[in-house]
Formats: sequence, structure tokens, C-alpha cells
Amino acid sequence: MAWDFETEPEYQVKLDWADAFVREEVEPLDVQWPRLQFTALEGARKKAIEPLKEQVRRQGLYATHLTPELGGQGHGQVKLALLNEILGRASWAPVVFGCQAPDTGNAEIIAHYGTDEQKKRYLEPLLNGELFSCYAMTEPLGGADPTQFVTRATRDGEEWVISGWKYFASNARTASFYIVMAVTNPDVSAYQGMSMFLVPADTPGIDIVRNQGLAMDPEGEGTHALIHFEDVRVPADAVLGGEGQAFAIAQTRLGGGRIHHAMRTIGQAQKALDMLCERALSRKTQGTPLAEKQFVQGYIADSYAQLLQFRLMVLYVAWSIDKHNDYRRVRKDISAVKAVMPGVLHDIAWRAVQVHGALGVTNEMPLFQSMLGASIMGLSDGPTEVHKVTVARQVLRGHRPSDDEIWPSGWLPKRREDAAKKYAHLLGDDQ
Ligand SMILES: Cc1cc2nc3c(=O)[nH]c(=O)nc-3n(C[C@H](O)[C@H](O)[C@H](O)COP(=O)(O)OP(=O)(O)OC[C@H]3O[C@@H](n4cnc5c(N)ncnc54)[C@H](O)[C@@H]3O)c2cc1C
Repeated sequence: MAWDFETEPEYQVKLDWADAFVREEVEPLDVQWPRLQFTALEGARKKAIEPLKEQVRRQGLYATHLTPELGGQGHGQVKLALLNEILGRASWAPVVFGCQAPDTGNAEIIAHYGTDEQKKRYLEPLLNGELFSCYAMTEPLGGADPTQFVTRATRDGEEWVISGWKYFASNARTASFYIVMAVTNPDVSAYQGMSMFLVPADTPGIDIVRNQGLAMDPEGEGTHALIHFEDVRVPADAVLGGEGQAFAIAQTRLGGGRIHHAMRTIGQAQKALDMLCERALSRKTQGTPLAEKQFVQGYIADSYAQLLQFRLMVLYVAWSIDKHNDYRRVRKDISAVKAVMPGVLHDIAWRAVQVHGALGVTNEMPLFQSMLGASIMGLSDGPTEVHKVTVARQVLRGHRPSDDEIWPSGWLPKRREDAAKKYAHLLGDDQ
């Protein structure tokens, strides 16, 4: 009987350390240096953050998503989930703990598919936190359907020449290299005709046309790039994982990224619930604290239950990934997590906003940003609708149509008839 919801005591000690460390040392970074996680560490920020990273390393909690050969702990996804839900409380925490997206996903695919030379050039400095990376897959013509991508790479002697547009490439402006998905063979299906390229950011022909900001970013500030590639030349060995492998690589990358995001979302939602409860206990109206109003109690109970359901779901999927060691075998459940995640965060953040009254919608509280963040989650790494389609298709694979053209197999008159036949020898005349 192997169902077990307990954390081993030695690891719980680490988690308790991480929890206190994130609250006391990392959460203050969010208010001192908001939105700067993906700019090079310099000056006061470097002085503040490098020693924190060192403390995390000493605890053996740095880059724990990686296997031991790559300098991680090989903890597996369940332990990572328990850690990530703590890191979800602070935007700077993934940087301090060496597991920030999109670098983690990029590191994972280079580790998986890269040559020794590519690992030396890109992976090692990425893991050491010496540089940032960017994943350029989405195109302006459509992100949810990669079969529409038209950015083209053509072979010219010992080089590939890349031309086209990429859109919403996060952190392109600070990245040292891009992983670019491009069509290399338009004569076969998109699933076999696209390849991934490792492209240094300073290669001639790359133009960041615009950096788009999200709704909560100040005007003119943004980190999601519209990039034009005009005859960008890279050597033949810039292909990652072989020609035509882009789809398989993208699935590996996005599988990990999505579930890690979900793990951190637990922490973000828990933080909103903590704020909701604190406010409910602190604020009085009509003679009693908000915590004693049944509406507010309903908000708390619904939030608690929703978060518990989500947390158990994420931990189950993490356990499944550890068990199968193959994201493709857990694709249905990763998509299910991805599809419910925005709703969980949105609902809990909305209730917390509401209980804070006017203060909740100000820029003096982080709650409204969490609500907006939930909408963003419904798009990044694929829209909710597309993930639901994936779930539904895979669920349907486990079912088949009724044998009867008219009546479903659960039609009671037929089931009664069958049951009567089955027990006829016992029932005799008393049926
Ligand atoms: C914050 C953020 C960061 C991102 N970072 C990156 C990055 O680093 N690199 C990168 O390559 N991309 C990145 N993206 C892009 C992201 O992957 C795309 O936004 C996403 O895949 C959707 O593509 P689209 O925006 O072109 O929407 P579209 O493909 O135009 O879809 C628009 C809407 O149409 C509906 N829809 C689409 N397909 C279906 C369907 N099959 N069934 C039903 N309805 C459907 C959905 O409502 C969907 O939201 C990022 C996006 C965000 C918001």
C-alpha cells in the first residue's frame, strides 16, 4: 500500500529552511527591485543576490530540477514541487534558487538534445547563472498552432540562413542566445519539417523590433520581443537535436515548463489566501470581523478547497513524471493541470481582492497583479482551450462508442433486462 502524503523528515528540514529564507531574504527583493529578474546582475543587486545564491547552494537546493550530472540534486519532480510551491511566493525566488523560466526549459532541452560542444558553449554558463536565454517559437501569424509557422531556415553550403518573424520571445533583450524554431523542409508535414537552432544574440541580421509589455508593466517597458530575422547565418552545427526534431524537442521543453509553473502557482495562490485570511481577521464591519461573515467564510472555504484540489493534482502529476520519466506519457495530465491553473489563481486572487475592498485594486497591494497574472497564464505555454482539446482527445482514447446504434450502454431498460437474465436462476418466481 504505497499511497503516502508525508514528506521525509530530512527533506522537510530543507523545506522549512527554504520557507523562512524566501519570506525573510527573497520576498524583500520583489519590492526593492520589481521586474528586474531578467536583467544582468550588477551593482547593489549583485551584492545582495550572489550571497543568497551561495546560501541556497550550501543547502543543496540550487537548480534542483537538474540531474546530478548537470550539477543538480536529482531530487525528482515531487520534491521539486514541494520546493517550487515555496518559491512561488516571490518573483525573485526562481533566480535565487537557479530555476527561472525560460532558462530551465532551455537548459533541459540542451542537456537532453545538445552535442558536447553545444553543452559547453551554452549549457554550462546558463547553469552557472552567467547568462540568460530566450525561446523563440511563437510567430505573429499564430502561436497556438505551430503548423502555421513560416520562419524559414535554408541550407547554404556549411551554413543555415534563417529568415522570418518571431513574437513574444520573452527576455530576448537580455538573452545571450536564442533557441529558434524554423521550417527546414516545407515539403513534409510540419511535425517533421521544423528544426531548432541555437543562435547567438549578436549574430548579424537579428533585429528586436519591439519589446511588448504586459498590462501591468509601465508604458514603454516590456520584455516580450517581436524579432525580425533577416538572412541570419549560423553554422550547420547550430541545429539542436537534428534536423526535423523541433516538435519533439518543443514537447519535452514545454512539458517541464508547464508543470514547474503550476508548482509555483500553488505558492502564489497560497499567498493570496494568506492575505485574504489576514484581512478577514483584521477588518471589522457592522460590529464583527469580516471573518465572521458567512460570505467571507464561503470565500475562504472555497479558496482552501480549490487550492487543496489543485495542489494534490500537481503533486500527483509530479509523481507520475517521476514514475514514467517521460513527459509524453503524462501529457494528458500536464495539460489538465495547465488548463485549470489560471482559474484557481484567478478565483483565489479575486476573492482576496474583494475582501480587501478598495485597497485590493490599488497598486499598493500585489493582489490585482495576481489576477492579471492568471489571465496571462491562460495563454503562455499554450491557450487553455488547446490544452483542454489535448485532455479531451486523450480521455476519449480510453472510450468507445456504444454497441447499440440508438441506445447508450447505460440505458436502464436494457440494463434491467440484462440484470434479470443474470439473476434469473436465483430469483425464480419472485421477480
Ligand atoms: C507572458 C507570455 C510569455 C510568452 N513567452 C513566450 C516565449 O518565451 N516564447 C514563445 O515562443 N512564445 C511565448 N509566448 C507566446 C504564447 O506561447 C502564445 O501566446 C500562445 O501559444 C498563444 O498564441 P497566440 O498568442 O498567437 O494566440 P492565437 O494562436 O492567436 O490564439 C488566440 C486564441 O484563440 C483560441 N484558440 C486558439 N487555438 C484554439 C483551438 N485549437 N481551439 C479553441 N480555441 C483556440 C484561444 O482562445 C486562444 O487564446 C508567451 C506568451 C505570454 C502571454
